[in-house]
Amino acid sequence: MKQLSQYKNYKKIAVMGGTFNAIHMGHRVAAEAVRQELDIERVIFIPTGNAPHKENDPMYNEHRYLMTVLATVTNPDFEVSRMEIDRTGKSYTIDTIKELRRKCSKECEIYFITGADAIEQILTWKDPDELLSMCRFVAVTRPGYNRTKLEKAIDTLKQKYKGNIEFLEVPALSISSTDIRNRVIADKTIKYLVPETVENYILKFGLYTTEYSQAPYINDINKRLHNVLTPKRFRHTQGVAEEAVRLAQRYNGDIDKAYLAGLLHDCAKCYTDEEKLRMCEEYNVPLDKILKKQPDLAHSFLGAALAKAEYGIKDEDIINAICYHTTGRADMSLLEKIIYIADYIEPNRESFPGLEKIRELAYTDIDKAVEYALHNTIDYNKEKNRIIHPLSITALEYYREENNEK
Ligand code: ATP
Ligand code: MG
Repeated sequence: MKQLSQYKNYKKIAVMGGTFNAIHMGHRVAAEAVRQELDIERVIFIPTGNAPHKENDPMYNEHRYLMTVLATVTNPDFEVSRMEIDRTGKSYTIDTIKELRRKCSKECEIYFITGADAIEQILTWKDPDELLSMCRFVAVTRPGYNRTKLEKAIDTLKQKYKGNIEFLEVPALSISSTDIRNRVIADKTIKYLVPETVENYILKFGLYTTEYSQAPYINDINKRLHNVLTPKRFRHTQGVAEEAVRLAQRYNGDIDKAYLAGLLHDCAKCYTDEEKLRMCEEYNVPLDKILKKQPDLAHSFLGAALAKAEYGIKDEDIINAICYHTTGRADMSLLEKIIYIADYIEPNRESFPGLEKIRELAYTDIDKAVEYALHNTIDYNKEKNRIIHPLSITALEYYREENNEK
């Protein structure tokens, strides 16, 4: 019987690290291309544990591991390691490479495969100098990432780290795990984007969907949102809907309304400025001078109109929560405050100064969270030389006074 992980016997191995949530054809194609081009004996897929750069999803650790096994089992030169999944605490690539170094023979060359998006971040990883001296990096092309930018990033790294980094063009598959998850939520097919076994696994365990996202009318909305939003925006929208539910639970608000308003709050966000202006006219959304100058700010007002006209929302509170989610306003309803704050703190948000403070306030005193968030936004927009909408200024005055009187 063949043994798994005969690390001591290998002369040349490659690590394919990733969240693999879910593993898709792009991962397999990249790994196989590197294996062949560089004469690699074994590609070890290592699903991340609690990756410092990614949202934590401990619940999904086993699912990610098992899907990775399913996706690689037919390739005799691929295997999967639980090394990072089983590690407690934060998981760093440097620790993985050190562990592999201990297991392998001295002369074994270790390659680390990364896509174009990941290579740009390498210097932000833990101990990059040591990491780049312990293994060689292969940066593979990835659709959607600028090739010149990638080559420049590699050149910069090469100057410092000599031969330890190289570039490989691999067949272009425009697939991402984010996209796979979004498609599952929107009830769109993932056939041929992931291996059939992985597709069946996702469906069998109902991965990525929630009890809310499966309601038939929500399903319809998600399908439509999936068509008009970028993958990142769609994911943000799901995050806001779920955060809004948590806030509604905390403050005894209407959970269904919170979910719906969260889902639809950015439904007008991904149109171009010209489209937004044209649609505002079409849907009779009045535009003041500020909105005309900064059409992106109009997306919330236009979103409210679209929610009513195109998504069949009749509830005024939901419409208002969408309408004022960017500017805020004085004396907001609980739902308006929930959406305003959920938009700020949902888990997919990239970190910015003050975010943790707002996250904490959100669940202790939502009015204080609103005041803090308004203050933060106004400062940020002033720095960017944007005109502050009067609705935000009166809102800040209102909540300052409210909170002082408490
Ligand atoms: P997410 O959307 O959740 O970030 P992902 O599709 O980027 O997921 P990861 O698990 O983050 O998948 O990726 C693991 C590694 O595979 C990374 O180095 C990434 O750049 C690379 N990779 C992912 N998809 C592709 C692809 N389609 N082509 C080439 N490389 C890819
Ligand atoms: Mg990624």
